[in-house]
Amino acid sequence: MISIANPLIGEEEKQAVMEVLDSGILAQGPRVKAFEEAFAEMCGAKYAVATSSGTTALHVALLAHDIGPGDEVITSPFTFIASANSVLYTGARPVFVDIDPVSFNLDPAKIEAAITPNTKAIMPVHLFGLPCEMTPILAIAQKHNLVIIEDSAQSHGAAYHGQRVGSFGTGCFSLYPTKNITSAEGGMVTTNSEEIAENCRVIRQHGMRRRYYHDELGFNFRMTDVHAAIGLAQLKKLWPFTEARINNARFLNQHLEGVVTPTVPENSTHVFHQYTIRVPNGRRDEVLAGLQAQGIGCGVYYPVPVHQQRVYTELGYAVSLPEAEQAALEVISLPVHPALSSADLETIVAAVNGLVN
Ligand SMILES: *Cc1c(COP(=O)(O)O)cnc(C)c1O
Repeated sequence: MISIANPLIGEEEKQAVMEVLDSGILAQGPRVKAFEEAFAEMCGAKYAVATSSGTTALHVALLAHDIGPGDEVITSPFTFIASANSVLYTGARPVFVDIDPVSFNLDPAKIEAAITPNTKAIMPVHLFGLPCEMTPILAIAQKHNLVIIEDSAQSHGAAYHGQRVGSFGTGCFSLYPTKNITSAEGGMVTTNSEEIAENCRVIRQHGMRRRYYHDELGFNFRMTDVHAAIGLAQLKKLWPFTEARINNARFLNQHLEGVVTPTVPENSTHVFHQYTIRVPNGRRDEVLAGLQAQGIGCGVYYPVPVHQQRVYTELGYAVSLPEAEQAALEVISLPVHPALSSADLETIVAAVNGLVN
């Protein structure tokens, strides 16, 4: 059995956790602060604020930009549901713009048509580890005075024109076990704005600027020092992990036949959170079943685009987004994680090529 994800937890993580347990400071403390500093440095942002999950990172980031009822946030329909749900939590409305069929990311050419007087932000999702086309997105944001909230949950260390994701706008990362690095559960908001960073810290901790004085409604979205200790140990391994993902993806790209393999634009570093192929001609489910029967743990990210999920249709979403809908019918993500051996990669290639050709 080859699994689709395999978090690599070593002695460093275990020892770091034991040190926290022995220290007596378990909740948000010095490890969280150290993790925030190291994470900000990794993505080339001035500040990072740790939260309890990627979802709460998105929620906090939106609130920190004062997004709420009456506002609209443009985002992708082809993503994990947390991207759009975080907008709903604030009382604002997600507005879906179709994706580019090659990158699976927001199609910048379709964004402007979705802007209304209520649009407050664009939330590009750097899906599967590939950065969105940020140059046109930043230009649109600047022209219409919109905030950029990057859903970077799948793209730790990914870069566009040499600049790391999470540093173009307000970045939101997840540290869930299947992500490129993990803290078990956890999230991180990154920003170059002192004001936004401070807003995030306040919202994360019950709207408290001064101890037990609460000027606004906040939450308990803190990260614990136990989680931060794991995250800090994992962050030190981000580059070797990423290199292994990129090498695995290169091998798959070179050897798979008869399927549409990922393309990486010249201007981008794709960190391959997922290695996602397309199986056209209505054969996806058959190939998926064949792979599963051979013990290859693959996944469909995502089988239903967000605008077609029941939560959203019940809210009255009835848009047609043909590229996202087509992608949902054709994609399969194959294992690409750093724990794969060369024998695993050969097995995956032989299985896919055997089923498709
Ligand atoms: C994982 C993920 C999230 C949510 O992160 P959690 O840590 O699971 O809350 C948000 N957006 C995307 C694109 C994700 O993949």
